[in-house]
Amino acid sequence: MRKEFKNEFSWSFSRDNLFNECKRKYYYNYYGSWEGWKKDSIDEVTRTLYVLKNLVNRKIWKGDAVHKEISRVLKSFETTGMIGSYEASVKRTTQIMREEFKFSKEKKYWSTDKSLRKVNALFEHEYEMDVSDQEWIDNYNEVIKCLKNFHNSEIVDELKNIGTDSIITIDSITPTPFDFNGEIIYVNLDLAYRVDDEVKIVDWKTGSAQSNTLQFVVYVFHTNETLGTPLNKLTVIEYNLQDNKQYIHKFNEKEILEAKEYIDSSMSKMKSYLYDPLNNSADISEFPRTEDDWKCAYCNFKKICFDLP
Ligand code: SF4
Repeated sequence: MRKEFKNEFSWSFSRDNLFNECKRKYYYNYYGSWEGWKKDSIDEVTRTLYVLKNLVNRKIWKGDAVHKEISRVLKSFETTGMIGSYEASVKRTTQIMREEFKFSKEKKYWSTDKSLRKVNALFEHEYEMDVSDQEWIDNYNEVIKCLKNFHNSEIVDELKNIGTDSIITIDSITPTPFDFNGEIIYVNLDLAYRVDDEVKIVDWKTGSAQSNTLQFVVYVFHTNETLGTPLNKLTVIEYNLQDNKQYIHKFNEKEILEAKEYIDSSMSKMKSYLYDPLNNSADISEFPRTEDDWKCAYCNFKKICFDLP
């Protein structure tokens, strides 16, 4: 029998970002689009919100292509002890990106039976934006540059030296849940590995946007809670593959406590918008639209948002 998923309340760094960006967008993402994956047995609005929710712009697509290839290389390393070549990564990624581009350009995401978590639907195609061939090529070239920097990175060298037993976790399509005061927090570490009695958590970055350290504090908090690794033995390496630069982050008790307080307060604010917090039930009318027009211009839901109540 197929498992039915319940829409349970949870917290994640990205959920918090969305909540702060636009309450209505948050509603569409976490409530309005729920069960939209049931393509043929769900109402049209829910299905539309689900498809739109899964659109990604070309910069996110670039990051996704890099993250997925690194994950494939590291998972293969975990089982074989061998790091595949840069050339193999380029060949595989090029083929996948070509197929994804075609799939998206033809807007097949509206008719596919596949989960949209596994295929890419591009914002630029859905909204028929004017993106030149050169811009698409530049985007692809940046993917290749990131893969080159990954294969030449000190992290790959270190993993080869210390071996597969050092790996704790590798990025997966499904984030990992962990308990926080009886609530669920989701995290998805790109890579965590052990060197002697220390744990290194790696976060691959593929763009130039400034990082929010809350995301890294949550990684450390999660690893400290689940593995019991002391804070002074936990390091986050923010590895910018685009610029080929690393930034090291360490956190103390005070910073972890502040992050916990922030998460607690963020959860309370999210729940205050629910008409039935115990059952995580929401009503669209309780989630106002942002008044910042520029946010709407780049929003996945703009084609339907203002037709809804
Ligand atoms: S179109 Fe604007 S108001 Fe509507 S969900 Fe998006 S950002 Fe919010």
